[in-house]
Amino acid sequence: MAPGQNTYPQDYFKPPLKIPMVLAGTFGELRASHFHSGVDFKTQNKEGVPVYASAEGSVSRIKVSLFGYGKALYISHPNGYTTVYAHLKKFNKKIESYLKKKQYQQESYEIQLFPSKDHLTIEKDELIGYSGNTGSSSAPHLHFEIRNTKTEKIVNPMHFGLHPSDQKKPIIAGIRAMVLNDSSHVNSSGISIPIQFKEKEKGTYYSTPIQAYGTIGFSIHTFDRQDGASNKNGIYKIEMRANDKICYVHEMETFSFAESKFIDLLIDYSYQYKYKKKYQKTYIHPKSNLSIYKKTNDTGCLFIEDGVSYTIEFFVSDFEGNTSKLKIPIRGNQSKQRIPSLQKVTEHHVRANHKYRLKTKEIEILFPKNSFYDDFYLHFEKKEDAFTIHEPTVPVNRDFKIRFNVRNIPDSIRKKTYIAEVVKNKYFNYCTTKKTDSIFSTETKSLGTYQLHQDWKGPNIYHCNFYPSQNISSFKNLRIYSKDKLSGIKSYRAEIDGEWILMEYDPKTHGFNYNISDKKLSKGKHSFHFVAEDNVGNTSLYSSLFYTN
Ligand SMILES: [Zn+2]
Repeated sequence: MAPGQNTYPQDYFKPPLKIPMVLAGTFGELRASHFHSGVDFKTQNKEGVPVYASAEGSVSRIKVSLFGYGKALYISHPNGYTTVYAHLKKFNKKIESYLKKKQYQQESYEIQLFPSKDHLTIEKDELIGYSGNTGSSSAPHLHFEIRNTKTEKIVNPMHFGLHPSDQKKPIIAGIRAMVLNDSSHVNSSGISIPIQFKEKEKGTYYSTPIQAYGTIGFSIHTFDRQDGASNKNGIYKIEMRANDKICYVHEMETFSFAESKFIDLLIDYSYQYKYKKKYQKTYIHPKSNLSIYKKTNDTGCLFIEDGVSYTIEFFVSDFEGNTSKLKIPIRGNQSKQRIPSLQKVTEHHVRANHKYRLKTKEIEILFPKNSFYDDFYLHFEKKEDAFTIHEPTVPVNRDFKIRFNVRNIPDSIRKKTYIAEVVKNKYFNYCTTKKTDSIFSTETKSLGTYQLHQDWKGPNIYHCNFYPSQNISSFKNLRIYSKDKLSGIKSYRAEIDGEWILMEYDPKTHGFNYNISDKKLSKGKHSFHFVAEDNVGNTSLYSSLFYTN
């Protein structure tokens, strides 16, 4: 029996799709800067799969956003839980007409609504919408969550009985020994190193014995697959034992959104940045407030004594309890020569518990107290117009401020200027820029390279699905495509005959779509206007006539 099965209602929530359950993502899976807060159901590589209410309830929130969850529906249930359905293509007729009315009232595609209780009641199994790919979704799927309505804590839907069959053991794909202070070493190394191991039989792994001394820990690269799908999903539980004593456990049962950022302390952050692979540490950072750690009175840090032998074992499980094991024998050996760690010392020693200010004539960088979790030497460099503020190898706990002195920039140029994060030396990504006559500032959580950059061109409007003066009576949609290369599209507005129309914008495809059935058009000539504005205020306009009969 899976853990926790007694504490959550079983058979209350039904799967929201009527196609076979295949997971594209599991609860708690490691994502960029957060843990996945739900399960992702595959939708057979297409959009438009009917989505049904998991249980009876009442719509408590409708949210439409360009990023994140895209079109999302929240249903609160009488049992104290709320289900969330995200990245939808559209909602059912009842919800869609409620939503559109508000969107037309507010003249905005992006919207958040909190219908009063029982205004939009939902039957169990009622069709609530269609799956899609809206928001920050990279392929069609349904993102589904179960939250505690009061606390908003998210709970693994598998604990409510929603899980596909899974008889496969997780895969352990890599393990690294982490050297945790200056006097420790592993296999003569003063820096963290990979440990070689072999799979003896399915799910049973052994490493060759290692020699170590001092305070060390481990990090593990692992994933799971369910039956009937080849994609890699997250695991449910990791346990570490030293000489048969449990010294680390984490379990993906429930967590709150506020703790999700501590994923930066769970994974080997700099390794992930450099090698694009996530290794989860099996020791706990003192500043991590993750509730997924099970109390063991231990931090998972090991102290290896000279001349003593240890057996370290890892148990990696999926929700069904399929478990893979890895055994590492350690021999304590203090005398082994140590290759020193190469910590780069710079003039900027940032202490985590203090604020830090870095100032030159052109730029000022302000790190408030506790911007970082650990002390480190910050690398700062100016190259041509770009300022490198370290690199994203160090996790950042809270926003810091970057202020550019723009006093010497002529007004005409300043107007077109924004703060850009320079990515791969060629992308000048817009950072929300607060402007005064003398200072441009932004707040960010990303270490990296920043500079002032200019954008002289409005968004490029490059395609429209009808030509000027065309009779569009047979059309279902009017569609236009627009993209802004540098600072990005900030806002847009579309009108027919001078009245605002709802164009649904998908930043991924650069498409803006109007559903012709929104408005009853009289027979004859109509005007269409579309204007888009970028983040420094350049605008572009497309106007055209069309006919209907
Ligand atoms: Zn998801």
